[in-house]
Parts: sequence; structure tokens; C-alpha cells
Amino acid sequence: MSNVLEYSLSKALYHKEKIELLKKGQMIIPTEIQIDPEAFCNDNCSFCSYRKEDGYNNEMTELIQAKPGSTENRAIGIPSIQSRIDNDILLSIPQQMVDAGIPAIEITGGGEPTLHPKFTEFYRECGKYGLDIGLVTNGSRLNDEIIGMVKKYGLWIRLSMDASNQDTHKKIHRTPNEDFEKRLNNLKKILDGKRKELIVGISFIITPENIDDIENAARLFASLKVNHIRFSWMYDRQGTAGLTKEQIEHIGDLIPRLQKELDTEDFKVFNEKNRIQTYTQKNDFNTCHFQRFVVAIGADGGLYPCCIMKYNKKFEYANLKNSTLNEIVTSMNVDAFMKNLNPVNCRPCWLSPRNASIDGAIKDPNYKPIPKPNHANFI
Ligand code: SF4
Ligand code: SF4
Repeated sequence: MSNVLEYSLSKALYHKEKIELLKKGQMIIPTEIQIDPEAFCNDNCSFCSYRKEDGYNNEMTELIQAKPGSTENRAIGIPSIQSRIDNDILLSIPQQMVDAGIPAIEITGGGEPTLHPKFTEFYRECGKYGLDIGLVTNGSRLNDEIIGMVKKYGLWIRLSMDASNQDTHKKIHRTPNEDFEKRLNNLKKILDGKRKELIVGISFIITPENIDDIENAARLFASLKVNHIRFSWMYDRQGTAGLTKEQIEHIGDLIPRLQKELDTEDFKVFNEKNRIQTYTQKNDFNTCHFQRFVVAIGADGGLYPCCIMKYNKKFEYANLKNSTLNEIVTSMNVDAFMKNLNPVNCRPCWLSPRNASIDGAIKDPNYKPIPKPNHANFI
């Protein structure tokens, strides 16, 4: 693989000063935090690695006082003060990010972030502090106030839809509410008169339940004029996303065909086709650079090296209950944790291509930064 191609895999390669510091073995300030304000979710998606019986991140269910593995059409567990980041801590994060020099925040889950009782206030604060804001949501709880804030302050929003119709959506999201249309209407409100800079994406995780809906979903969301739909695979231990070899091959042909037909200047079909291969791969590399750029924060207030290792207590290197972000990202103990982290002990790392591209830049004496990509701080 050429350096150029390899390097295009991570936006980290735009951040010249940080790469130069890493070359010298020094600490850097991350560009992004990915935070789960709330562990509870009103959905119970069949692919959710936080809820599945064999889900990699299902230690999280302790926070919602539930056992993983329920296949019922209803939310599992209960929301409580234990399932979410403390109100005061959450609302202090924008200031803490500014103090620490971290410019971007992805608000995500874990659970459904908009269910945190202080979500609206929190998002507004992030906007007022001028942070780059991305939001991942199932779209069910977006009211006019939240939609207004997203349209005013947001850099991007991604709705986890995974279907083009109510029946398929229900099979996957396993919610008792037949509210696919409501979620679609929320999406339409976001799109209506939005700033050009606000990128609206759809996430479609391929599972056995929605494999026949891929084409319809691509066509539906293209017609609604979202900016992109991103197809990826359920993260599972078998590395098959629950699909047969023939089904995977079929999708391998289908998505490029849809890209050819539907991609325009304003709409793209993103294909995370190679990610499934990493689900059973051994992590045969020595250093994790990704953790230097991105801080994953769980609903337990814990800081983890990435979303893959989130809620694994052995990988929690600090907690917002005990320290500020500024203290954490400049701590020699945290630096030592990151230096000692051996990827062999991680779950299969689907971020390994990004790690490899950063590693390539660090080792390359002729490294040159890539041109500024869109949303450069979201690595
Ligand atoms: S909407 Fe997201 S957090 Fe909620 S169950 Fe589905 S995948 Fe999990
Ligand atoms: S899973 Fe990958 S990105 Fe996460 S800590 Fe391990 S090596 Fe780093």
C-alpha cells in the first residue's frame, strides 16, 4: 500500500505539530472526545455491542442494572443517576475542554445521549464554547429545541436508522413504539433549510434483519438529500455480522453498484467494506497511537483509550469524578498507561488501519501533513 493511500486513512495526519511531538515520544493534547452522557437507551438494537449477549462492550449493562442478551422489543434496564454522567460534571465539560485545549466533541452512546436530563443544556453549552460538535443519535427524541441547536451549532449529526421502513426498523431497533416515521420527520426537519456546513449522515449497520433493505435505504436517504449514508457491519466475535459468505459477497457487489448510481457532489454512499475483516484479526502491532488523539468517555465518567475498549475496567485510565480533563491529558501517569498499552490485550481493533497510518507517518522521516480534511479534528 502506498504511503499516500495509507495516510489518507486517518485525519490525524493533518495535525503536523502533534505527529512531530509523537515522533519525539512526547505527549499530545487530543483533538477529540467521544462521550456517552447516558448508558440507558430506549431502543434495544439487535447489533448493539453494549447490549448483546456476546457484545464486546456489554459490561456497560451494569450501569443500567440489566443483564445483556435480551431480545425483547423493549428497552433494557433502567435510567438512573448511576446510568449517566453526573449533571454538574457533564455541564462542566465544555469549559474543561477549552481549558485542556481539546477542540472537538462527539456526543454518542453507550445509550441514547438525548435521554440525559441535561442533554439540551449540555449541547447548548458545547455550542456556546465554540466546540466542533458531532452527535450520534437514534433520532427518536429530537424535539424542535434540539433540532434548532443542531442546526445552529452542529458540525455533523448521524442518525442510526438501519432501515428504510417501519417493519425492518422494528426488527432491528426492537422498540415497542412504531415511530420510524417520527424519526424520519425529525430528520426532515434537520434537513429543512440547514446550513451547508452541517453534515447530516445516516448510519446503517448491516445485520441479517436488514440485508434486504440496503438498496431501498440508500435510495430513500438519497432522495431525502442527506449528505451520506454509511454502511458498516455488526461488530461480532465471529467476524461475519451474522451473515453467510454468499451474503457478504452479494453486499460486496451491491454497495459499489449503488455508489456508482447514487453518488453525486452532494450525496455519498460510504462503504466500510473492509472493517468486517478486522473483527477476527489479531492485533499484530505494538503501539496504539489512536488513543493519543481521541479520548473515549463512558457514562461511568471513565476515560478509555477508544470506543472499542470502553467500559472494560482494565482499560479505564482516569475518571472525571476524580480529575479534570486538563489534569488527565497532561498527566505523566496517563502517558505511562498509553506507552504500556499493548494492543494484543485489546479486542480486535477495527481502528487498526488508522493506527497503521499514524504509525507510518511517525516512522516516515519525510512525513508531510495531508491537506486539511473536512472535520479535521474528528480523527
Ligand atoms: S440506538 Fe444505539 S445505543 Fe441504543 S440500542 Fe441501538 S445501537 Fe445501542
Ligand atoms: S482497540 Fe485499537 S484503538 Fe483501541 S486501545 Fe486497542 S489498539 Fe488502541
